Amino acid sequence: MRFICPYDGTPVNENLECEKGHKFIYHDGMYDFLVNSKVKGDALLERIAPIYDKIWAPLGFFLTSFYSYDRIFKDAGSFLSSRNFLDIGTGPGTIFKYVKCEYCIGLDISTKFLLILKKKFSHVIAVRADATSLPIESASMDSVSSFLVLHMLNNPSLAIKEISRVLKPNGKCEILVLVKSNVISRLLSKWWKIELRHRDYYISAIEENKLTLLEIKKYGPWLLLKCKKQA
Ligand SMILES: [Zn+2]
Repeated sequence: MRFICPYDGTPVNENLECEKGHKFIYHDGMYDFLVNSKVKGDALLERIAPIYDKIWAPLGFFLTSFYSYDRIFKDAGSFLSSRNFLDIGTGPGTIFKYVKCEYCIGLDISTKFLLILKKKFSHVIAVRADATSLPIESASMDSVSSFLVLHMLNNPSLAIKEISRVLKPNGKCEILVLVKSNVISRLLSKWWKIELRHRDYYISAIEENKLTLLEIKKYGPWLLLKCKKQA
């Protein structure tokens, strides 16, 4: 496993410099590919980072779907456990309690979340980067997940394209997103100031990016998609 430049795709050396001269830094236990970048962590998420794991996410997900967060993570653990595993928008890294991996990468744009992740899961490689241009080598991951994140992006299909790019043939992916559906999703989208997409948007993005949809489940306004990279 090695890093590539998120701007031009050339390999990044041990000093975290790409072949075209872009420089990245390692600090506070994390590889930071967003130095000098305009990408900012969402202000609300930055503020709630310290309590996110215990209160916010389980409560938010449970209240809006009436299903347990824990149950979904347990199932994800058996589906995604593999040698090289990447979690995109990992937050405080809850998924690493469930997924067994040798090379475990937790990626987020928030420094605060990554600091919490490193305290709890020292074996996880913490990477600060943008979900739509991953500093990860193509065809290097056995499994990739992204929970409760892609609907927050301006262009979720770009992130799905990146998930497909970094997966090995037959590699697995699991995505949990908020979709345009009912009153609850309308409320959440107003609150987060995001434009929600219809479920068909995600299904098309998956199919257009050499991924096979294995399973699709609806939990209230949330949509869970399991897929596999075509061989
Ligand atoms: Zn570069």
